[in-house]
Amino acid sequence: MSRVSVDATPILALIHRLTEEQRADTRAALAARPRALPVLNFAPAAAARTDAAIDASPDRARQACRAGCSACCHLAVAVTIPEALWIAMRLQAERTAKQLHALVTRIAEHARRVGALTIEARARARVPCALLGDDGACTIHPFRPLGCRGYTSFSKELCDAALAADQPGHDGPLDAVAWAAAGAIGDGLKAALREADLDDQHYEFHSAILRAIETPDAEARWSRGEDVFSDLPRVVSERLARR
Ligand code: SF4
Repeated sequence: MSRVSVDATPILALIHRLTEEQRADTRAALAARPRALPVLNFAPAAAARTDAAIDASPDRARQACRAGCSACCHLAVAVTIPEALWIAMRLQAERTAKQLHALVTRIAEHARRVGALTIEARARARVPCALLGDDGACTIHPFRPLGCRGYTSFSKELCDAALAADQPGHDGPLDAVAWAAAGAIGDGLKAALREADLDDQHYEFHSAILRAIETPDAEARWSRGEDVFSDLPRVVSERLARR
């Protein structure tokens, strides 16, 4: 994917600030004892911080993303474990048992079909995200992954054209500030996890959500340092997959 040509200096300063803010918040949340519900102490704040940075983008007026515009929801998504746990918590709290059962069945089917695909093969598969609604809107919009928030486009037409051409991104501009902000906040979160000796990897979205829902006490086990997610697929390009 390509991005707008901009002066990199303010973006580098923004990246540094957001990374350090998120790192400090996450570190403090993980240091609290007892380490009860650590994810809720920093995952929602990471999402809010990302939204604030995207809203403050100097190109805010050019951002074209709208509910019902869903080309990017056919692309590979990677999540950190706190993101996956937070999404699982919200789904378990807000869906009825019947709704959750149907959704878990759907997510499991998606994980089987697309979980291990490369970024390029995922785009060619043209399989919409399991959390995309029939109306083309994200059904978990308030607690969607950081990567989904940051992938902010200036052109619906170019996103649709990329999907039609089986491309994992479009040739037109994405909002560089939005993309950098989501990445920086994810990096800050991951840095604090590493410092706490917790699994800081990104995993494929469907596979990670499924594991978070199906594993009893997933958050408590992960926050004690247990290895709960490490066998899951990562999101990689074809070039990396061939290595
Ligand atoms: S989580 Fe929501 S925004 Fe992200 S790919 Fe799925 S439907 Fe789209």
